[in-house]
Amino acid sequence: MDYKSLYKDEDFGEILFNQLLKDYTTWGIGGPSDVLVKVKSKEQLQNLLQFNHKNNIPTTVIGRGSNLLVTDKGIRGCVLLLADNYDFISVDGNKLTAYAGCKLNSAALFAIENFLTGMEEISGIPGSVGGAVAMNAGAYGKEIKDLCLSVNAFDYFGNEYNFTNDQMNFSYRHSKIFDDNLIVSSATFNLTYDENNEAKAKYEDYTNRRASKQPLDKKSAGSTFKRPEGSYASKLIDECGLRGYAVGDCAVSQKHCGFIINKGNATSEEMLKFIDHVANIVYEKTGFKLEREVKLIGEK
Ligand SMILES: Cc1cc2nc3c(=O)[nH]c(=O)nc-3n(C[C@H](O)[C@H](O)[C@H](O)COP(=O)(O)OP(=O)(O)OC[C@H]3O[C@@H](n4cnc5c(N)ncnc54)[C@H](O)[C@@H]3O)c2cc1C
Repeated sequence: MDYKSLYKDEDFGEILFNQLLKDYTTWGIGGPSDVLVKVKSKEQLQNLLQFNHKNNIPTTVIGRGSNLLVTDKGIRGCVLLLADNYDFISVDGNKLTAYAGCKLNSAALFAIENFLTGMEEISGIPGSVGGAVAMNAGAYGKEIKDLCLSVNAFDYFGNEYNFTNDQMNFSYRHSKIFDDNLIVSSATFNLTYDENNEAKAKYEDYTNRRASKQPLDKKSAGSTFKRPEGSYASKLIDECGLRGYAVGDCAVSQKHCGFIINKGNATSEEMLKFIDHVANIVYEKTGFKLEREVKLIGEK
């Protein structure tokens, strides 16, 4: 398909062709997209979805790429990027509304500036509000489901919806967004007045804890595996003697065994093989089945 001429007269924000998706993921892995669009308004988002649907172009949404393994062949059709291009944020009383592309960290800091508390625990998750809502991301005992009041979303035909927390079917690293194939446009969080002025210190404490335990200077997608019932992936991997274990550029982090890192130029295929290899060793030695938390997307 001649994407350049197809999109040439459209006003969808920024339209880019043949972008390497490794530049859009924290693992630094992933082949090219045919088209990548950075919409800048809700209207552009809706128009793009309707246009792609009308032209039979598949749309794949990505946020800040911090939970993604993109295949080496990349993504066919249109990648809809919701990151810095779509990150408006506002506060109304104790409610904070953030567009999908907003960093969780920026949302947490904005809350603190507005004397609101509640987002400190999740402030270090390096994802977008949209990705975090979809994944029901969480840290230090708090998940998106504990804060989220409502979600504004679209389906891939361009129809708009508003959901309450109850309607979102939040569960461990999962939500309605995946079940019903939806795109988060914005989310509203119910926060509390920071009467005792404690939020800043809490924020700093969680930031320091994360930096001391996680290899934040390395290319990773965070915890590669979900937490298995009855144990922890990092503990099991460590007990199997895999701390620092590497094949080529894929390695179990020395600092945190739940993180698999890309030491240089690992391909998606190599990373996938390595992840399966680690999971197989853990299964053989402990009987625990590790399930990937990271989402695999793109042409196989
Ligand atoms: C160093 C590090 C630490 C991490 N720590 C944590 C942690 O403590 N807790 C935790 O839960 N996670 C953690 N993660 C994982 C990751 O940050 C979260 O899963 C985050 O919510 C993903 O957001 P994202 O914008 O990067 O999504 P992406 O990686 O871009 O996408 C992830 C999935 O969400 C979908 N998605 C993204 N945006 C939208 C949208 N607007 N609408 C619908 N679907 C969308 C994508 O299609 C994809 O399936 C960590 C990752 C790293 C690299």
